[in-house]
Amino acid sequence: MSSTVALAGAALAGAATWTFLEYVIHRWLGHDGRFRGNPFGVEHVRHHAEGNYFAPTIKKLAVAAIVAVGLGAPAYLLVGAVGVAWLAGLLGLYGAYEVFHRREHTHAGIGRYGRWARAHHFHHHFVDPRTNHGVTTPLWDLVFGTYRPVATIPVPRRLAPHWLLDAAGAVRPAHTARYTVRDGKRA
Ligand SMILES: [Zn+2]
Ligand SMILES: [Zn+2]
Repeated sequence: MSSTVALAGAALAGAATWTFLEYVIHRWLGHDGRFRGNPFGVEHVRHHAEGNYFAPTIKKLAVAAIVAVGLGAPAYLLVGAVGVAWLAGLLGLYGAYEVFHRREHTHAGIGRYGRWARAHHFHHHFVDPRTNHGVTTPLWDLVFGTYRPVATIPVPRRLAPHWLLDAAGAVRPAHTARYTVRDGKRA
Protein backbone atom coordinates (compact mmCIF):
# COMPACT_ATOMS: atom_id res chain seq x y z
CA MET A 1 0.00 0.00 0.00
CA SER A 2 2.64 2.50 1.03
CA SER A 3 4.67 1.69 -2.06
CA THR A 4 1.58 2.31 -4.21
CA VAL A 5 1.21 5.69 -2.51
CA ALA A 6 4.90 6.39 -3.07
CA LEU A 7 4.62 5.50 -6.77
CA ALA A 8 1.49 7.64 -7.20
CA GLY A 9 3.19 10.52 -5.40
CA ALA A 10 6.25 10.17 -7.59
CA ALA A 11 4.10 10.18 -10.75
CA LEU A 12 2.32 13.33 -9.54
CA ALA A 13 5.68 14.95 -8.80
CA GLY A 14 6.76 14.00 -12.33
CA ALA A 15 3.65 15.66 -13.78
CA ALA A 16 4.38 18.79 -11.73
CA THR A 17 7.95 18.70 -13.03
CA TRP A 18 6.57 18.74 -16.58
CA THR A 19 4.51 21.90 -15.90
CA PHE A 20 7.74 23.62 -14.82
CA LEU A 21 9.64 22.38 -17.89
CA GLU A 22 6.75 23.47 -20.12
CA TYR A 23 7.19 27.01 -18.78
CA VAL A 24 11.00 27.04 -18.91
CA ILE A 25 11.26 25.57 -22.42
CA HIS A 26 8.56 27.86 -23.82
CA ARG A 27 9.71 31.06 -22.15
CA TRP A 28 13.45 30.78 -22.53
CA LEU A 29 14.06 28.45 -25.47
CA GLY A 30 10.98 29.66 -27.34
CA HIS A 31 11.09 33.40 -26.73
CA ASP A 32 14.37 34.62 -25.25
CA GLY A 33 16.66 36.24 -27.83
CA ARG A 34 19.75 34.96 -25.98
CA PHE A 35 18.85 31.42 -27.05
CA ARG A 36 17.79 32.31 -30.60
CA GLY A 37 18.41 29.57 -33.16
CA ASN A 38 18.02 26.62 -30.75
CA PRO A 39 16.01 23.78 -32.36
CA PHE A 40 12.91 24.27 -30.18
CA GLY A 41 12.99 28.03 -30.75
CA VAL A 42 13.16 27.66 -34.53
CA GLU A 43 10.09 25.41 -34.54
CA HIS A 44 8.31 27.67 -32.06
CA VAL A 45 8.86 30.86 -34.06
CA ARG A 46 7.30 29.07 -37.01
CA HIS A 47 4.35 27.97 -34.82
CA HIS A 48 3.73 31.65 -33.96
CA ALA A 49 4.22 32.86 -37.53
CA GLU A 50 1.95 30.30 -39.17
CA GLY A 51 -0.52 29.56 -36.37
CA ASN A 52 -1.40 26.09 -37.60
CA TYR A 53 2.18 24.79 -37.79
CA PHE A 54 3.35 22.20 -35.25
CA ALA A 55 6.76 20.57 -35.14
CA PRO A 56 6.69 17.06 -36.66
CA THR A 57 5.49 14.38 -34.21
CA ILE A 58 8.41 12.13 -35.14
CA LYS A 59 10.87 14.74 -33.81
CA LYS A 60 8.96 14.97 -30.54
CA LEU A 61 8.82 11.18 -30.17
CA ALA A 62 12.57 10.98 -30.83
CA VAL A 63 13.30 13.55 -28.09
CA ALA A 64 10.87 11.82 -25.68
CA ALA A 65 12.54 8.45 -26.36
CA ILE A 66 16.00 9.91 -25.71
CA VAL A 67 14.77 11.48 -22.45
CA ALA A 68 13.02 8.23 -21.42
CA VAL A 69 16.21 6.21 -21.82
CA GLY A 70 18.67 8.92 -20.80
CA LEU A 71 16.82 9.76 -17.58
CA GLY A 72 14.96 6.49 -17.00
CA ALA A 73 18.05 4.31 -16.58
CA PRO A 74 19.81 6.55 -14.03
CA ALA A 75 16.50 7.26 -12.22
CA TYR A 76 15.91 3.51 -11.84
CA LEU A 77 19.47 2.85 -10.71
CA LEU A 78 19.35 5.69 -8.19
CA VAL A 79 15.89 5.35 -6.64
CA GLY A 80 14.31 2.29 -8.25
CA ALA A 81 10.66 2.13 -9.30
CA VAL A 82 9.89 5.51 -7.73
CA GLY A 83 12.28 7.12 -10.22
CA VAL A 84 10.58 5.38 -13.13
CA ALA A 85 7.15 6.46 -11.82
CA TRP A 86 8.38 10.07 -11.63
CA LEU A 87 9.60 9.93 -15.21
CA ALA A 88 6.37 8.25 -16.36
CA GLY A 89 4.37 11.09 -14.76
CA LEU A 90 6.58 13.66 -16.44
CA LEU A 91 6.42 12.10 -19.90
CA GLY A 92 2.72 11.25 -19.49
CA LEU A 93 1.76 14.88 -18.89
CA TYR A 94 4.17 15.96 -21.63
CA GLY A 95 2.26 13.74 -24.09
CA ALA A 96 -1.08 15.11 -22.84
CA TYR A 97 0.28 18.65 -23.21
CA GLU A 98 1.20 18.03 -26.86
CA VAL A 99 -2.32 16.82 -27.66
CA PHE A 100 -3.91 19.60 -25.59
CA HIS A 101 -1.87 22.40 -27.17
CA ARG A 102 -2.69 21.18 -30.66
CA ARG A 103 -6.39 20.96 -29.81
CA GLU A 104 -6.35 24.53 -28.52
CA HIS A 105 -5.55 25.55 -32.07
CA THR A 106 -7.87 23.10 -33.80
CA HIS A 107 -10.97 22.82 -31.58
CA ALA A 108 -13.10 25.19 -29.50
CA GLY A 109 -12.66 24.52 -25.79
CA ILE A 110 -14.99 22.39 -23.74
CA GLY A 111 -15.87 23.60 -20.26
CA ARG A 112 -14.42 26.38 -18.15
CA TYR A 113 -10.87 25.04 -18.19
CA GLY A 114 -10.86 24.49 -21.96
CA ARG A 115 -12.04 28.06 -22.57
CA TRP A 116 -9.65 29.50 -19.99
CA ALA A 117 -6.67 27.63 -21.46
CA ARG A 118 -7.42 28.91 -24.97
CA ALA A 119 -7.78 32.51 -23.83
CA HIS A 120 -4.57 32.26 -21.77
CA HIS A 121 -2.66 30.79 -24.72
CA PHE A 122 -4.10 33.06 -27.42
CA HIS A 123 -3.31 36.09 -25.29
CA HIS A 124 0.27 34.81 -25.49
CA HIS A 125 0.01 34.36 -29.27
CA PHE A 126 -1.82 37.55 -30.24
CA VAL A 127 -1.52 40.13 -27.45
CA ASP A 128 1.89 39.73 -25.80
CA PRO A 129 4.25 36.76 -26.35
CA ARG A 130 6.25 37.80 -23.27
CA THR A 131 3.34 36.70 -21.06
CA ASN A 132 1.23 33.62 -20.33
CA HIS A 133 3.82 31.00 -21.27
CA GLY A 134 2.12 28.18 -19.37
CA VAL A 135 -0.19 26.05 -21.49
CA THR A 136 -1.63 23.55 -19.02
CA THR A 137 -1.46 25.77 -15.91
CA PRO A 138 -0.95 29.45 -15.01
CA LEU A 139 1.10 28.42 -11.95
CA TRP A 140 4.59 29.29 -13.23
CA ASP A 141 3.40 32.49 -14.90
CA LEU A 142 2.15 33.52 -11.45
CA VAL A 143 5.44 32.48 -9.82
CA PHE A 144 7.61 34.33 -12.37
CA GLY A 145 5.36 37.38 -12.78
CA THR A 146 4.37 36.78 -16.41
CA TYR A 147 0.71 36.02 -15.73
CA ARG A 148 -1.74 38.45 -17.36
CA PRO A 149 -5.50 38.17 -17.01
CA VAL A 150 -7.20 38.10 -20.39
CA ALA A 151 -9.47 40.91 -21.57
CA THR A 152 -10.33 40.71 -25.27
CA ILE A 153 -8.00 39.13 -27.79
CA PRO A 154 -7.70 40.69 -31.25
CA VAL A 155 -6.89 37.77 -33.55
CA PRO A 156 -5.35 38.47 -36.97
CA ARG A 157 -7.64 36.94 -39.59
CA ARG A 158 -4.73 35.14 -41.26
CA LEU A 159 -3.89 33.29 -38.02
CA ALA A 160 -7.40 32.79 -36.68
CA PRO A 161 -8.11 29.25 -35.53
CA HIS A 162 -10.68 27.52 -37.62
CA TRP A 163 -13.14 27.14 -34.71
CA LEU A 164 -13.27 30.88 -34.01
CA LEU A 165 -14.90 32.11 -37.21
CA ASP A 166 -18.13 31.26 -39.00
CA ALA A 167 -18.43 30.76 -42.77
CA ALA A 168 -18.80 34.51 -43.31
CA GLY A 169 -15.55 35.17 -41.45
CA ALA A 170 -17.14 36.68 -38.32
CA VAL A 171 -16.32 35.57 -34.78
CA ARG A 172 -18.87 32.92 -33.78
CA PRO A 173 -21.38 34.21 -31.17
CA ALA A 174 -20.05 31.84 -28.48
CA HIS A 175 -16.66 33.59 -28.60
CA THR A 176 -17.47 37.27 -29.11
CA ALA A 177 -17.05 38.08 -25.41
CA ARG A 178 -13.35 37.22 -25.60
CA TYR A 179 -12.20 37.46 -29.20
CA THR A 180 -12.31 39.93 -32.06
CA VAL A 181 -10.89 39.37 -35.52
CA ARG A 182 -8.85 41.98 -37.31
CA ASP A 183 -7.64 42.30 -40.85
CA GLY A 184 -4.24 43.61 -41.82
CA LYS A 185 -0.73 42.33 -42.01
CA ARG A 186 0.59 42.72 -38.46
CA ALA A 187 0.65 39.36 -36.69
ZN1 LIG B 1 0.20 27.72 -29.66
ZN1 LIG C 1 5.14 31.07 -27.68
